[in-house]
Amino acid sequence: MNVVVVGAGVAGLCCAFELTKAGASVEIIDRGASLGADSCSWFAGGMLAPWCEGESAEPLVVSLGERAIAWWKRRGVGLAQRGSLVVAQRRDEPELKRFARRTKEHEWLTENEIAELEPELEGRFSHGLLFPKEAHIDPRAALKSLKASLEGLGVFIEYGCDGFAHTDRTDHVVDCRGLAARDELADLRGVKGEMLLIRSSEFFLTRPVRLLHPRIPLYIVPRGNGLYMVGATMIESDDRTRITARSLIELLQGAYSLHPILAEAEVVETGCDVRPAFPNNLPRIRRRGNTTYVNGFYRHGFLLAPALAEWTREVVMNNAYYPEVMDEHPMQ
Ligand SMILES: Cc1cc2nc3c(=O)[nH]c(=O)nc-3n(C[C@H](O)[C@H](O)[C@H](O)COP(=O)(O)OP(=O)(O)OC[C@H]3O[C@@H](n4cnc5c(N)ncnc54)[C@H](O)[C@@H]3O)c2cc1C
Repeated sequence: MNVVVVGAGVAGLCCAFELTKAGASVEIIDRGASLGADSCSWFAGGMLAPWCEGESAEPLVVSLGERAIAWWKRRGVGLAQRGSLVVAQRRDEPELKRFARRTKEHEWLTENEIAELEPELEGRFSHGLLFPKEAHIDPRAALKSLKASLEGLGVFIEYGCDGFAHTDRTDHVVDCRGLAARDELADLRGVKGEMLLIRSSEFFLTRPVRLLHPRIPLYIVPRGNGLYMVGATMIESDDRTRITARSLIELLQGAYSLHPILAEAEVVETGCDVRPAFPNNLPRIRRRGNTTYVNGFYRHGFLLAPALAEWTREVVMNNAYYPEVMDEHPMQ
């Protein structure tokens, strides 16, 4: 079977990988000039944190997200599984208790236990929550590695190709265009996310830390060599242009309240993009004839693309139907 995958963000690359491994002959088209050039996936934090996400997400995100950790591990993308840490300033401790009530698979930590895990945070937080099974990856490195694996499997990726150039000569099209697929998927909306990359040679974290705060919930993800991703805003908007001054101030304030030494960090990059989301914030597979749409990953692209890619493989190659993520029956 010949398949053209349109879109080389995390969804498209994961689908292409699963289809290729199952024996399909896959070609990928992306309108960006190069990997990540026009892709929301380039700005992700790379947290694989299904249990933390369970605080506000549906149980399906937790159960499908659990599978992502093993999937990315098998791809050899430099995944680190040291858990995630959730903390709050003393005055925001009710937020931490609320977070604990709404999530599973965590353990409470005392001030000393936090300091044992992350010495930089010594004396800063009296309690914390550790989600020991959670993991993180560097999303840009993961995309590069997946692209290299696909090329090694003989998959051709054509960049700078806008639209459906080769789709008339194929058996099946898998549409992974993210928010750009709104022309076909009218119920998609954009949720803007802004982030920073900062570098500090004086601050050392080994795992993602979430700082709970009623106004500026923040996370910081270590990327190695003193580089940290600080994220991320959630704004109902499809403006992909730039980070606003307000968001920049709030993200930096959040980082500063995690540790004042971060005021001395170098700002390496600011970035933003728009997460594609359906009204219930769950991803969807929609098969319409010989086109299968895989979209709506919202804030869970790296977390959910592996499971959705495995299901897409079955939908495309074996006409499978997964009511959990398919709100249109392909045979109707
Ligand atoms: C700041 C921020 C932080 C985030 N943090 C996390 C996180 O920690 N963990 C997590 O799991 N998720 C996170 N996310 C969410 C995640 O990034 C998205 O869910 C994911 O990137 C969506 O992937 P996608 O492949 O559907 O879309 P995209 O990555 O946008 O890919 C779509 C691709 O389609 C291409 N395309 C579009 N139109 C056409 C066309 N006409 N022809 C050809 N190609 C086309 C584009 O060039 C693009 O490469 C974050 C998002 C943001 C913004």
